[in-house]
Amino acid sequence: PVRVRFCPSPTGNPHVGLVRTALFNWAYARHTGGSLVFRIEDTDAARDSEESYEQLLDSFRWLGIDWDEGPEAGGPHAPYRQSQRMDIYADVARRLQDAGHAYRCYCTTAELEERREAARAAGRPSGYDGHCRDLTAEQVAAYEAEGRTSIVRFRMPDETIAFTDLVRGELTFAPENVTDYGIVRASGAPLYTLVNPVDDALMEITHVLRGEDLLSSTPRQIALYRALIELGVAGRVPEFGHLPYVMGEGNKKLSKRDPQSSLNLYRERGFLPEGLINYLSLLGWSLAPDRDVFTREELVAAFDIADVVPNPARFDLKKAEAVNADHIRMLDVKDFAERCGPWLRAPYAPWPEESFDADAFAAVAPLAQTRLTVLSDITANVDFLFLDEPVSDEKSWAKAMKPGQPGQPGAADLLRTARGRLAAAEWSAEALKEAVLAAGEEHGLKLGKAQAPVRVAVTGRTVGLPLFESLEVLGRERTLARVDAALA
Ligand code: GLU
Repeated sequence: PVRVRFCPSPTGNPHVGLVRTALFNWAYARHTGGSLVFRIEDTDAARDSEESYEQLLDSFRWLGIDWDEGPEAGGPHAPYRQSQRMDIYADVARRLQDAGHAYRCYCTTAELEERREAARAAGRPSGYDGHCRDLTAEQVAAYEAEGRTSIVRFRMPDETIAFTDLVRGELTFAPENVTDYGIVRASGAPLYTLVNPVDDALMEITHVLRGEDLLSSTPRQIALYRALIELGVAGRVPEFGHLPYVMGEGNKKLSKRDPQSSLNLYRERGFLPEGLINYLSLLGWSLAPDRDVFTREELVAAFDIADVVPNPARFDLKKAEAVNADHIRMLDVKDFAERCGPWLRAPYAPWPEESFDADAFAAVAPLAQTRLTVLSDITANVDFLFLDEPVSDEKSWAKAMKPGQPGQPGAADLLRTARGRLAAAEWSAEALKEAVLAAGEEHGLKLGKAQAPVRVAVTGRTVGLPLFESLEVLGRERTLARVDAALA
């Protein structure tokens, strides 16, 4: 059975690239009926934080990316936090050294740098040169006596490493380009290079699906795996698939420091989890050439790692929004109204809580549902219902109330006429539209031009929900009072 994993380090806020990787692993596990293992790679005490750990869990829960083994779920390979598995790594590191697959390296940073420079200058590969590979007991003793510290280095076999990447096909790495590498720091702290493949082995991971940025560590990990198999720690080498880079603005790699890549940003703007999942799944994969919008179930039914393409994917905010908008339309209207909840309250909503009127909101919710791109847009669309006075911004006013051309009516004239006709109208959207239409005709204005000043006077904005339905819900008294205030 397929066993995949996602294994973020709890540093900073979750970002788009990390979520895309988790999502592909999740979709592959669900598609194949396999298991998803969630492991926390928190071996770097200086950078890891508990807050970030909590956020990771919360984010994946929000997205609906569920895991079969890991934090809170538990599982046969617990614990799933690397900070709680240090004994395991120390033991494996020792066994690797005992078997000759790893050795102590006493080179100082300055020495390494100097020899690297010399190699570069001579046009030779500049990886580790094997200086400490075969130290004698006397040399070791001399270094120790000098008080040098040492790291543990893995001994790469002198052979080409080839594997078939599930996304990229056949790949080969020549030995001169993959040199011996550190697996344990001088402090004794194990490095990613060790703990990640050791845990993949112990947790019986069958497929490693991760970002292309990790491709260069794969030949090293394959060599380490072979050593682990020899030691009886690993059963077999997993398959690897490297997911394409995600490019951001200006065709630059989207970095986790990019504000555009922060998951929280999308969440706060009111992306639906299903909309975001849909869009992120398009970063390197597609359901069908003409299908950009699909459900979580359709994604799971169709997802195969073999269909992921190697070329870089572009993160396109406009498209993400369009996909999200479609998912908003797909919601049942009651569900939609409920999901707007957070943006109808502080700190997003500017009105006092007691001013909120659930019936009025329910009346306009269907109108809003067909128009929103993200849920946070709801606040500005309905605030005219819950604020005592509509928001007012100079620009909208200037635009709507500017005097007409010489010989043409100004907005104030129109508003005055509309005021009279609205006051006399039966209070239904249909009748209110007739009233404004007739007021416009009196001044030689089409409906669009005639309703603009009414909209600004009543809602404070130049765009919004369909005006006459909005007025109907707002009610006669408040509507007329706002027109009067605008005319005063
Ligand atoms: N903890 C590593 C990271 O966050 C995992 C990389 C991998 O998937 O192997 O980059």
